[in-house]
Amino acid sequence: MEFNDNDHELFLGKYSSESFDEFYEEYEELMNFVNSLPAEIRAKKGFNKKNLNYNELSRLLINKRNTISSNALFRKNNRAKDSIIDFWLYGVNAKANIMENLPSLKTYTGITTSCVKEILSISNNPEGHLEIPLILMDKGIILIYEKSLDGLNVDGIVYKNKNGNPIVSLSIRHNRVDNFWFTLAHELSHIVLHYDLLDNVIIDDLDKNSDSEIELHANKLAADFLIPKNIWRSCPVKYAFESNDIKEFAKQHNLNPAIVAGRIRKERNNYSLFNDIIYEKDIRGDLFNG
Ligand SMILES: [Zn+2]
Repeated sequence: MEFNDNDHELFLGKYSSESFDEFYEEYEELMNFVNSLPAEIRAKKGFNKKNLNYNELSRLLINKRNTISSNALFRKNNRAKDSIIDFWLYGVNAKANIMENLPSLKTYTGITTSCVKEILSISNNPEGHLEIPLILMDKGIILIYEKSLDGLNVDGIVYKNKNGNPIVSLSIRHNRVDNFWFTLAHELSHIVLHYDLLDNVIIDDLDKNSDSEIELHANKLAADFLIPKNIWRSCPVKYAFESNDIKEFAKQHNLNPAIVAGRIRKERNNYSLFNDIIYEKDIRGDLFNG
């Protein structure tokens, strides 16, 4: 049998060569994305030119592809700051894809403020952060812990998937119990108040004082979820300086003392108060093994 010049066309086929072009384009785009990440993240993940970790790279490619096909999370941009957010979102989406297929995830049929309030009362339980993902799944809400990255200014995000399940992800960028619960309460408030807007992801940096109405409403409801208005309005503990007073008050009202201490720090704009209570628990260590 003799080969002629057209055989490579037969062998590769027209479509294969087109797919190769597509693949090459995608690869080039992936490498541009990798190069737009900060050097520390590239080093940590094994994305250095001389020593490329292909397992990590193929994982990134798959996560990126899947995320882009899920519209809510896909945001086209070229800024380095946003490439960190995108990188983090790819990790969130990979976990969301797994959780979406778990049989314990119920259909989302809406959630009321009183239901969220009841769910969040678990914040007084020292193991509450480990138990709440399952409780939320029973309501059709997915909660994902995706560890923060250096330079990522995100506390939490919320969006809904194509089945209408709200998906919340927390980065735990601050290793503080009060921040954990406040961020979660804030994202759940978005679900209660702004479910219709969640086709697009809401990305929250709660260190910034936002003046958007949506954010102010979510902050207000989150604060009330964690410490009921009627309790907080007239309580003298707001003016306390002793950790024991906070603990006593928290015990009396079945509240997490770190949440009470966090509220006082915020209201007084003094973040050096009650560090003994705030940092008592290593929440990041619990969730990410360090
Ligand atoms: Zn928000």
